[in-house]
Amino acid sequence: MPETDSMKITPAQEQKLRIAVEYTCELCHEYHPEYCLEIHQISRSLYKEMKRDPSTRILIVCQLCHDHIHNLPVPTGKQRTLVKKRSFFIRQDMRRILGYRPRPYQAPDDINIPLIYEEYFGRCTPGSYRLSG
Ligand SMILES: [Zn+2]
Ligand SMILES: [Zn+2]
Repeated sequence: MPETDSMKITPAQEQKLRIAVEYTCELCHEYHPEYCLEIHQISRSLYKEMKRDPSTRILIVCQLCHDHIHNLPVPTGKQRTLVKKRSFFIRQDMRRILGYRPRPYQAPDDINIPLIYEEYFGRCTPGSYRLSG
């Protein structure tokens, strides 16, 4: 099914996205063989904030549900609800697959690293690691 407002998703990414949802359609929640699952791209013209996170713009759905989404059609608001109900882990997987990082990791600078090391090694008696062979 051609998407009108689409971002580029490679076949390799599509495959990983199907795995991310464990081959379960996000609309009917049924298990489907891989070839039955399609990537639907939610129209983002209405929702500009979706530009930021590509995982919020897609639904992994079976062919039948995909037809429904386009032909009924399923309102964009409902599609967004489905995206929001997605589990944390699936969302995380999808973001990784699509190359999205929520924000750059910043090491906290108020931690005294030498102190942590000292605490860690302080718990072991000297040379005890050798006894374990
Ligand atoms: Zn379905
Ligand atoms: Zn679609």
